[in-house]
Amino acid sequence: MKSVVCISQTPDTAAKINVAADGTHIDPAGVKFILNPYDEFALEEAIRCREKSGGEVIAITVGGDSAKEILRTALSMGADQAVIIKDADRGDSFGVAQQLADAIKPMNPDVIFCGRQSVDYDGFQIGPMLGELLGIPAVSIVVKLDIQGTAVKCECEIEGGRQRVETTLPCVITAQKGLNDPRYPSLPNIMKAKSKPITEIAANPPAARTEVVAMMKPDTKRLHKLFATDGDPNAVKNLVQLLHEEAKVI
Ligand SMILES: Cc1cc2nc3c(=O)[nH]c(=O)nc-3n(C[C@H](O)[C@H](O)[C@H](O)COP(=O)(O)OP(=O)(O)OC[C@H]3O[C@@H](n4cnc5c(N)ncnc54)[C@H](O)[C@@H]3O)c2cc1C
Repeated sequence: MKSVVCISQTPDTAAKINVAADGTHIDPAGVKFILNPYDEFALEEAIRCREKSGGEVIAITVGGDSAKEILRTALSMGADQAVIIKDADRGDSFGVAQQLADAIKPMNPDVIFCGRQSVDYDGFQIGPMLGELLGIPAVSIVVKLDIQGTAVKCECEIEGGRQRVETTLPCVITAQKGLNDPRYPSLPNIMKAKSKPITEIAANPPAARTEVVAMMKPDTKRLHKLFATDGDPNAVKNLVQLLHEEAKVI
């Protein structure tokens, strides 16, 4: 089975994020970048499919030169090939999806794996867009996957439960935490990955359909109100009233 895994470079989830001077991007200064955590589940599942049924796993990313690092991570985890579409300008999600679709179509894969979302811009868009652009089904937030021949059985997480979804190959699967336990690359595999080739494809982005006009951090100013309770018989009543009328939490 031939799988393509779309992987994205994202800031470390523990990184302190600041907005860049232009007010529309994340400032990369001093930020450690990692393989998007949801893409680890996607990659692990593709490797397990190959281990079960044979075939190959191709990791692909859209990004600048620094994104090659995550392709090396993918190779060290077990991807057979790595491809970068060299687009150093962050376009919109459609631009990323269209370029991925253009590169993936001639590969003719059985399955395209994505993470459910990138943890930087939280778009949740690329997987379903790829399905649409390639004219194949897409199943999102998958926590269990069983492929027998061309029959695909998924369990997908929904609010408070799960649903079973069936489809057929070829298809797009977006991975949710819990789909598997991603493996840690061994030291020899990390060393071997350093010298493996990475195929480069020139960027060919379509016109953007959306534009980020402002990005801001949440207002961290804490509003609080203190009032003395000593001996006040109405203290609890006042607190309940405040919670109801001002905080509107009860
Ligand atoms: C500092 C910084 C620098 C960046 N530099 C670039 C850049 O040079 N060029 C660029 O195009 N983008 C760049 N990005 C954006 C980033 O690579 C993704 O394109 C972006 O995270 C997509 O966000 P989304 O919310 O639309 O994805 P979602 O729709 O939430 O992503 C869902 C899934 O789609 C796949 N996916 C998402 N993005 C990509 C991608 N770029 N390549 C392959 N698969 C992907 C992954 O499987 C992901 O789990 C940069 C982001 C940051 C924070």
